[in-house]
Amino acid sequence: MSNLFYQAHGRKPVLDQALGVYMWDQDGKRYLDGSSGAMVCNIGHSNETVLTAMRRQMEKSTFGYRLHFETEASEQLASKLAGLMPEGLNKVFFVSGGSEAVESGLKLARHHAVATGQDSRWKVISRSPSYHGCTLGALAVTGYAPLTVPFEPMMQAMPKIPAPRAYLDGLDANDPATGQYYADMLEAKILAEGPDSVLAFLIEPVGGASTGALVPPEGYMERIREICTRYGVLLIMDEVMTGAGRTGSFLGSDHWQAPPDIVVMSKGLGAGYVPLGAMIADERLVTPVLEQGGFAHGFTYAGNPLACAAGLAVVNEIEIQGLCANATRMGDTLLARLKGLMQKHELIGDVRGKGLLTAFEFMANRDSKAPLPARLNAHQRFVDLAYARGLIVYSRRSRDGVEGDHILVCPPLIVNTDHIDEIITGLDASLTAFSQDIHAELKAG
Ligand code: PLP
Repeated sequence: MSNLFYQAHGRKPVLDQALGVYMWDQDGKRYLDGSSGAMVCNIGHSNETVLTAMRRQMEKSTFGYRLHFETEASEQLASKLAGLMPEGLNKVFFVSGGSEAVESGLKLARHHAVATGQDSRWKVISRSPSYHGCTLGALAVTGYAPLTVPFEPMMQAMPKIPAPRAYLDGLDANDPATGQYYADMLEAKILAEGPDSVLAFLIEPVGGASTGALVPPEGYMERIREICTRYGVLLIMDEVMTGAGRTGSFLGSDHWQAPPDIVVMSKGLGAGYVPLGAMIADERLVTPVLEQGGFAHGFTYAGNPLACAAGLAVVNEIEIQGLCANATRMGDTLLARLKGLMQKHELIGDVRGKGLLTAFEFMANRDSKAPLPARLNAHQRFVDLAYARGLIVYSRRSRDGVEGDHILVCPPLIVNTDHIDEIITGLDASLTAFSQDIHAELKAG
C-alpha cells in the first residue's frame, strides 16, 4: 500500500543511491540509466561539484521571493544562459519545470502582441505528434491523443500541422525538397487561419517523447524560420528535452540557421538536482511588455536561489567537461551501434536521433512501415525486459500516441564507450527476448 499515485504503473523498486550513469535500488541491484531518467540527468548523478555548489548556497539562503530580493545565483545563471543563446535572446524568466516554461513562452508571446497593438494574434500553431507539457495551456499545443483527448473540453483548440516524419511518409530526409514540403505546411496553415490571427509557431527542434528523436529533414528549420519572419509569427523553440547539450550543442536548434524568438528549457538545466526551467526571450519582445506595466505572469518559486545555484553549476559542468562534444562523439557511436542492432533484429523498423537523443522504432513490417498491433503494448514490454536486465530506457508511441512503439536511448552525456557497450549488450539481450515473445504472439494471432 502506498499513499502516492501517479499513472497506472504498479510498484517499483525503491531507489537507494545513484552515481554517474548508474543507480542502485535498496536490494543492491544496479541499473544503467540509459534514459537519464526522463532525459533529465544530462551530467550524470551525484556530481560532486554540483552538490558542493548546492551545499554552499543552502548555507546562505534557500529562498528569497523575487518581489523582495534579487539573488546572486539567479543573476549569475541568467547571465550565463544569455551568453549561450542566439543573439538578442538575453532576457531570462525562471520557472520550475518544462510545462511552466512552455506556458511562460506562450504567455509572453501573447503579452507582447497585446503590448504592441496586435491583439488579433493569439493562435499558436504546433505540430502533431508533439509533447509540450501537461498543464492545460501546454497541453493545448501538444499533439498526443491519449494525453489530450480527456481534457479537450477544457482547452482552447490550437491549430496543428504534421510533424515532418519523412521516414513514415517514404520521403528522403536528406533531400531539401522534403524539408520544403513539410515547412510549406506551416505557410499553408498560417494562410488558412488568417495571418493576423497567428501568434507563434512552437516546435521541438529534435522531437522528444512523442516522435522518438525525430530529426528535421534538410532545409526544414531554415524554411520555417523564413516563413515565421514573413508573417510576423514568433518562433518558439521548445528545448526542454533538447537543451543543455543533449543533441551535441547547447541548444538543439543551434544545429541549424533558424534562431528562435523565444527558447524554453528545463530537464537538463536542473539535470535532476533541482526542479528548474527557464524561458529566454529576445529583448525586443520583453521591452514593450515591461514598459506597459510588466509581464502578468509568474510562479512563486521563480529564480529560487538553490535551484539557480545548482543550475549554474550544471551548466558550468557541461562546459568544463566538454559534454556537448562528448554527446556528439558518443551519440554517433550509439547511433551506429543501434543501426547494427537493426540489422540483427528485424522488428526494429527505424533508428534515428542526434547526439545522445536517439531512438529506435518497432515495426511489424519495414516495407509497409506497419506498426506492431497496439494490443501487444510492445513499447512497455520492451522497457520492462530491459529493466529486468538492469538497463533503463524510455518509451512512447510515435503514431499519435496510440500505436507505433519507440524506445528512447538517451544516457547521461558523460557516457564513454564502455557504457555504450553495456547499453548495446543490454538492448541486444532484451531484443532477443522481446522478438521471441512478440513473434510467438503474432503467430498465435
Ligand atoms: N516540452 C518537452 C519537449 C518535453 O519533453 C516535456 C517533458 O517531457 C515538457 C515540455 C514538459 O516538461 P515537464 O514535465 O517538466 O513539465
